[in-house]
Amino acid sequence: MNLKNKVAIVTGAGRGIGRGIALKLAAAGASVVTVDLSLVDCVSAAAEIKDKGGRALALTCDVSDAEVVAKMIADTMTEFNQIDILVNNAGIFPFKPFLEMNEADWDKVIDVNLKGTFLCSQAAAKKMSTGGKIVNISSIAAYVGFSGLTHYCASKGGLNGFIRPLALELASKKINVNNVAPGAIETPGASTGMTPELKKQTEAMIPWGRMGLPADIANAVAFLVSDQADYITGQTLIVDGGYTLR
Ligand code: NAD
Repeated sequence: MNLKNKVAIVTGAGRGIGRGIALKLAAAGASVVTVDLSLVDCVSAAAEIKDKGGRALALTCDVSDAEVVAKMIADTMTEFNQIDILVNNAGIFPFKPFLEMNEADWDKVIDVNLKGTFLCSQAAAKKMSTGGKIVNISSIAAYVGFSGLTHYCASKGGLNGFIRPLALELASKKINVNNVAPGAIETPGASTGMTPELKKQTEAMIPWGRMGLPADIANAVAFLVSDQADYITGQTLIVDGGYTLR
C-alpha cells in the first residue's frame, strides 16, 4: 500500500485497534492525525509514529460532540490543508444487562459509536475535495447477539445501515465508504474483565484458533483506504478468523 501524500484521521487512535491502524497507515506513508479522548494516549501514538520517521498530529476530541469534532477537523486542515482518509474507530462497549440499562447508558453508546461516526464523516467529507476514503470500524456484534450489549449491537448494526446510502450520496465526490467488522481482538478495551478462562472459551469459538490482533484489522483497513479499493464502496468486510462462519 502506498499512502504517500495522503492525510488520514484515525479516531480512537490512542490504543488498541485504532493505534494499530494509525501505525499501519503511517508506515504506508500517510500523515496521520491521532484523535482520541485521552490526551496522553493520542500524544503517545503520535510520538510513536514520529519516532519511526512518520508525520503525525495528536488531537484530543470527543467524537460525540459536534463542536469539538468541528475543531478537530479545522485543526487538521490548519496543519495539513487536506483530508484524504477518515477511519471512524472510536467506540465503547460497556456491558449492561438490558433490564438494568437506563436511558443514559443507551444514549452514551449510540452517541459515541453511531452519532460520532456521522459527525466525523460529515465534517471530514466536506473537506475531501479530490475524493477520499471513509472506513468505519463496525463489529461482528452487528450480526451476532452478545448478551449485555444490546446498545452496542444496535450501534454497530446501525453502521451497516449507515454506509449504504452514504456510499451512494458520496459516490459523485469519489469518496468510498466501507466498514470493517472485527471479531474478538486483543486490545486494552476487550481485555477488561477477560479472565484466562473466558479467553480460552472465546478462542474455542474461533476457527482460526486465536483472538485477532490490532494488526489484523489494520491490514484490512490499509487495503480499503488504498487506491487498490477504488471500486469498492458500501461494503462491510468481516475480519474475524472465521467466528461468524458457523
Ligand atoms: P479500546 O477501548 O482498547 O480503545 C478505544 C479507544 O477509543 C480508546 O483510546 C478510547 O480513549 C477512545 N475513545 C473512546 N471514546 C471516545 C470518544 N468519545 N472520542 C474519541 N475517542 C474515544 O477499544 P478497541 O477494542 O481497540 O476498539 C476499537 C473499535 O473496534 C471500537 O469501535 C470497537 O467497538 C471495535 N471493535 C472491537 C473489538 C474487540 O474485540 N476489541 C471487536 C469488534 C469491534
